[in-house]
Amino acid sequence: MEIIKRHIPKRINNPEERMTPAGIILHYVGNPGTTAAANANYFHNVNARVSVNYVVDDREAIELIPPDMKSYGTKSGEYNGKYIQIEMCHPDKSGRISEATLENTVRLCRGLISRYGCRRVIRHYDATGKMCPLWYALHESEWEELKERILSGKDESMTKKPDNTPSEWAKEAVKWAVERGVLRGDENGNLRLSDAVTREEAVTFIYRCWQLIK
Ligand SMILES: [Zn+2]
Repeated sequence: MEIIKRHIPKRINNPEERMTPAGIILHYVGNPGTTAAANANYFHNVNARVSVNYVVDDREAIELIPPDMKSYGTKSGEYNGKYIQIEMCHPDKSGRISEATLENTVRLCRGLISRYGCRRVIRHYDATGKMCPLWYALHESEWEELKERILSGKDESMTKKPDNTPSEWAKEAVKWAVERGVLRGDENGNLRLSDAVTREEAVTFIYRCWQLIK
């Protein structure tokens, strides 16, 4: 899964206030059928104190506010200033989260936990009683399973050493590709420069170059 950085500039819903993450709060977007990109646009433009650090859908995770900075996902200043907040997209109004979005959320959380040690994973519901994420506020045992899945799993990308230093001959190309988003790191910023490329990764690289010139 990829993490796209589309940071909200300093404004009403992003005070750029540093925090030490104590845990993670999961939310659902509450707007069925919308993508992470659409919700990211919303948070970039909304004129109210509402924001989260990440929005996740089947395809990607978008980082709106760095994980060590405050967001406004709940009505509680205490939680907002201590927890990394993640919103999950969902296909319908039941609020049930697709397996692909769950997997992306699990990976994102594992990456954040290995970086910050913030193992307290809670629902918005646990923080303030709001029915959010709706599906998990209503299905307690499924929530326990999801939490277990996040906390028990190994973060595979963390067991790999960062591989971000290109060989001399590839330096210029890697710099070019990273600056233009053609080559992006995984959830831990690991570019995996010496990993083999799959066919789907190969066409994704080509597609991104085509997007740049079209
Ligand atoms: Zn919420």
